[in-house]
Amino acid sequence: MKGINDIRQIVENDLCVRCGTCASICPVDLITFNERYYPVVGQECTECGLCLEVCPVHDLNIPLLYEQVLGAKHIDNPVGVCNGVYVGYSTVPEIREKASSGGVVTQILLSLLSSGDIDGAIVATADPNVPWRSKAILATTAEEIIKSVGSRYTIIPVNERLKELRKFPGRIALVGLPCQVQSFRMWESIDSQMGEKVAVVIGLFCNRNLEMEATTGLVRCKKINVSEISALEYRGGTWPGGIRVKLKNGSYRELHRFGTKDGAYNHLYRIHYAENCLNCIDFCAELADISIGDPWIRGADGDYMFKENWSLVLTRTKRGKEIMCELEKAKKIVLEEIPESLFYMNFSPAAKSKKKLAFYRIKRLMEKDKPYPNYHIEIPKFTWKELMYEYLKRLSLQLSKNNTMKNIYMNFAFSKLGERLTQIKIAYKKYRYRIANSRYYSKRYLSRKQK
Ligand SMILES: Cc1cc2nc3c(=O)[nH]c(=O)nc-3n(C[C@H](O)[C@H](O)[C@H](O)COP(=O)(O)OP(=O)(O)OC[C@H]3O[C@@H](n4cnc5c(N)ncnc54)[C@H](O)[C@@H]3O)c2cc1C
Ligand code: SF4
Ligand code: SF4
Ligand code: SF4
Repeated sequence: MKGINDIRQIVENDLCVRCGTCASICPVDLITFNERYYPVVGQECTECGLCLEVCPVHDLNIPLLYEQVLGAKHIDNPVGVCNGVYVGYSTVPEIREKASSGGVVTQILLSLLSSGDIDGAIVATADPNVPWRSKAILATTAEEIIKSVGSRYTIIPVNERLKELRKFPGRIALVGLPCQVQSFRMWESIDSQMGEKVAVVIGLFCNRNLEMEATTGLVRCKKINVSEISALEYRGGTWPGGIRVKLKNGSYRELHRFGTKDGAYNHLYRIHYAENCLNCIDFCAELADISIGDPWIRGADGDYMFKENWSLVLTRTKRGKEIMCELEKAKKIVLEEIPESLFYMNFSPAAKSKKKLAFYRIKRLMEKDKPYPNYHIEIPKFTWKELMYEYLKRLSLQLSKNNTMKNIYMNFAFSKLGERLTQIKIAYKKYRYRIANSRYYSKRYLSRKQK
């Protein structure tokens, strides 16, 4: 990348996505993280350059990684290539209920641990000392894996834990966001031992991430003192769940209404987004063995088709597909294949928008002669509609940088009037999807929904 010789410059140029990989690969353990999870390099750097080699926002040769990992040519497809598209859930009711989606991630880890295919897994969990903060651990027991169930919609430098593999005697599974999967794949491509130690890579879908102030801001907005909190859940309660806190007196307080997406995250992402995610082009963890997200797939009636905790599963490698088939055969998960077109129709608009807007921002950095992430992919052409959307988005992102604006927005969005408007928006969205989808859906899917 232009003008970058050191990961300190990645941080200074606002490019760092806080994946954590640089700290793991540093042979002299010089990299630590500050309060906001940005890497800090110690004095005795030997300038070996390894940290920069695995940094996902430096020089990431995606077409080459496609060939190495997936044995496939990189194509212009917003969701990547896969060899199977499914929806499914864990057959253990306690896991399915506690999970964000269908608990498939946790079930894969538990099953591979009990069969001896892995001896541990890198997962994210709550910090036991500060319940609204999150951290990554190398879990080696079923109890630890079960405790890590559920998404934590916040920055966590998960790959920091890869460091422990130096001394770890067995093989592990890595669960990470697309940027964490990318940087792991870079590491694996320069050090085959990493590939031997990591038996499977499970990638989570990720449109963008939140700074930790998103949840603490919401807690404050609801006039709750953080010292009263004993636990924070990002998707607590029944599907699709919501952000809620458990207080030290044992009671729960829900922090918003109407589920995760519309009731909370669509608001929080407007004002507490992690800015450095704006150059990220990967929504569906294109380089994972198995990619998992929520099946936000709407039927002909405009409503979600898969309610009550389902995971959307894409298998991308031969090993990924084998694992899913074995788990289904052993009745550890329920797995239903769905047509790629159904998934594509519902996910490609968001994935395409994420990719294209990121490329537009990268193009702007190039034009300004500033450092930019090099993905070795040609910059696409942009339509005027995309450019308009980006300008409007930029404007709202600029406004949201102001703390007073942030507070005004939070207090309004989560007030009674704000909630009423959200409710109207949800109803309008459902109506819009009903009109749009009725043209596309076959009777087959309608009948499935009605069963
Ligand atoms: C920041 C973030 C953004 C996401 N955005 C989308 C999206 O836009 N669209 C979509 O369809 N899905 C998104 N997901 C994925 C979705 O929320 C679920 O994680 C996924 O469907 C798996 O569900 P599950 O029930 O199978 O997993 P579970 O069985 O509940 O297990 C979840 C696993 O995720 C790990 N994990 C939790 N938080 C993090 C984190 N911050 N970083 C790394 N690992 C973590 C846990 O360790 C656990 O192993 C996002 C997830 C995260 C963490
Ligand atoms: S250049 Fe090498 S020694 Fe210096 S911080 Fe990076 S990995 Fe560590
Ligand atoms: S490797 Fe990850 S944590 Fe380190 S500088 Fe790059 S993006 Fe940031
Ligand atoms: S948007 Fe991209 S860079 Fe940001 S956390 Fe998600 S995968 Fe990582």
